[in-house]
Amino acid sequence: MPGAGAGSRGDPAYNREMDALGLYVHIPFCQTKCAYCDFAVVVGRDRRQAEYVAALVHEIRVWGAVLGRPGVSTIYVGGGTPSLLPAAQIATLLDACREAFVVQADAEVSLEANPGTVDRSVLRALRDAGANRLSLGVQVFDDAALQALGRLHSADEARRAVDEARRAGFDNLSLDLIYGLPGQELAGWQQSLDEAVQLAPEHLSAYGLTIEPATEFGRRLRLGKLAPLNQDLAADMYEAADETLGEAGYRRYEIANFARPGFECQHNLGYWRNQPFLGLGMGAHGSTVVARFGNHRRLNAYLSQMAGWQGPRFAAPCVPEVGGPIAWVEALDRATQLAETAILALRLAEGLNMAAFEARFGERAEERWATTIEELEALGLARIEDGALRLTARGRLLGDEVFTRFLLER
Ligand code: SF4
Repeated sequence: MPGAGAGSRGDPAYNREMDALGLYVHIPFCQTKCAYCDFAVVVGRDRRQAEYVAALVHEIRVWGAVLGRPGVSTIYVGGGTPSLLPAAQIATLLDACREAFVVQADAEVSLEANPGTVDRSVLRALRDAGANRLSLGVQVFDDAALQALGRLHSADEARRAVDEARRAGFDNLSLDLIYGLPGQELAGWQQSLDEAVQLAPEHLSAYGLTIEPATEFGRRLRLGKLAPLNQDLAADMYEAADETLGEAGYRRYEIANFARPGFECQHNLGYWRNQPFLGLGMGAHGSTVVARFGNHRRLNAYLSQMAGWQGPRFAAPCVPEVGGPIAWVEALDRATQLAETAILALRLAEGLNMAAFEARFGERAEERWATTIEELEALGLARIEDGALRLTARGRLLGDEVFTRFLLER
């Protein structure tokens, strides 16, 4: 993170980081908790919504002042269910970002919304507030599966939300899909993919279900009431997504993300290119590349810590200290920074560009991870092409196995 103790404005490294700063704004409220959800959420239309927005505005202002009103290229309002907030409160948050930071005129401003929580007038108000990209949590076009996931919307509501978003003027629309659900067959997933393609969004994310222990699905799994995931079927579903979306003109630019050319999510590209970002709000995470840090995950703790907060102290350049809303900080040694940069880059179709890595870190990736790269090539999991290391199709399926190797060879 650029900012107090992070170098002077004349420092080229400082300015490079400034240009790339992304803001993530977390809205924790949800109508119910979905059976697979492991996020920091507050269930119900909490009467503390207005108090939360005021605290967030304060956090946005404090960070903007501490960092000297730096440039921002992307804002992502996620959750939770941001569309549960009145559009006026979203506008208040975006205005606060523009006052506290120099938000580029062409900045990508994404907003997550759940079908069933938006109509055309709300969407129009969100568009007027400055949101220029909408990400709809569709998941699947199958009412029984949606119910099993604990989602409140129907497939019809998802179709309607897409239509309403278009009519409200959103010309950059993303649909989130999920596969590997309990009882889901390949044919059912294929039908959801086909429906999604027919709706012609600019961007699609297709994530495989993971069952975390602290979720309702995790509990059912422990009790033997849910069958463990069938990894072979999940792999087939991933391949079906890759093929269907590829044939429909979407380019897979990240393991689980597909876009029409020019509609890749710039905010998330910033994460995968290991650029600094600020996470604002309850449970939100930030990264300075040399450290990552996160806010309190409980609403009461976040709100009480925000009252009168003056901003973080810095233990070292770009390493904030725990205090105020910041509940934890992890300073990263150089080996970890380099490994994380490689791992994140490998998620992308563009891969790990060797020349860019050397220019950034003054070290050659092909020397640092000589053994790892040789083994990955021998196993058919990755290959070097046009100066970049990229995962193969098999490597994408076995990503975790590949990534661990970069952490082990230090
Ligand atoms: S809507 Fe999203 S954030 Fe909210 S409970 Fe469901 S999965 Fe979690």
